[in-house]
Amino acid sequence: MIEMKDVWKTYPNGVMAINGIDVSISKGEFVYVVGPSGAGKSTFIKLMYREEKPTKGTVVVNNFNLGKIKESRIPILRRSLGIVFQDFKLLPQLTVYENIAFALEVIEEPRSTIKRSVMNVLEIVHLKNKARFYPHEISGGEQQRVAIARAIVNNPALLIADEPTGNLDPDTSWGIMKVLEEINNRGTTIVMATHNKEIVNTIRKRVIAIEGGRIARDEARGLYGYER
Ligand code: ADP
Ligand code: ADP
Repeated sequence: MIEMKDVWKTYPNGVMAINGIDVSISKGEFVYVVGPSGAGKSTFIKLMYREEKPTKGTVVVNNFNLGKIKESRIPILRRSLGIVFQDFKLLPQLTVYENIAFALEVIEEPRSTIKRSVMNVLEIVHLKNKARFYPHEISGGEQQRVAIARAIVNNPALLIADEPTGNLDPDTSWGIMKVLEEINNRGTTIVMATHNKEIVNTIRKRVIAIEGGRIARDEARGLYGYER
């Protein structure tokens, strides 16, 4: 599902963010990406959805070779994966329903299919009763669950989450993890960058630790391994 071979990323200003990474992530895995600030976690994740291009090496995601993919095919790549950010990135002028439907309207799905798909993902994130609310009318945890619903509405094989609990209090964060685990149990691969030590050490999964742009640890049921 994700294959990186001898991947390097140097930013135009000369910062060497990723320095020779080899990694393989299979369908159905749940992987935490951990490491100190500035270690290269975000860059590692951005390479997976072609927000950044590798300077050297190959990155293959969902059978797309991201170092070689044409600009015109990037929207097709993006539809094969879902992305969730720390700051939710919901559109404030649209309702919960509309925020999720938006992703389907751009690919011109029929209205009835859209409705079925949106209500289905709202059920997965336990928010069917909030469909008509606007983002400012719901809590932070609920906003993040809407963002997750939007990310999975196209049925992506891979869900990428960059610090999804970074803006949430502990109780709310556990709720988000429950939803992510349910999505993973349905077969979706999840890659999640996080600083949340309690979550990583309690809900044990594969842990990839990035330090200085390299993989310092890669353990099947790893621990967070840093003080926060
Ligand atoms: P992390 O997510 O682990 O905090 P990042 O991938 O954001 O690490 O950053 C790795 C290194 O690359 C840091 O030194 C950071 O300052 C640098 N960096 C990140 N993004 C850019 C960019 N767009 N241009 C230049 N340097 C960057
Ligand atoms: P969560 O644990 O999901 O973050 P909260 O404890 O923050 O939930 O919120 C509890 C309830 O209060 C939620 O059902 C939410 O709909 C409602 N709520 C929270 N913030 C707001 C707000 N700014 N406006 C309206 N309702 C809100």
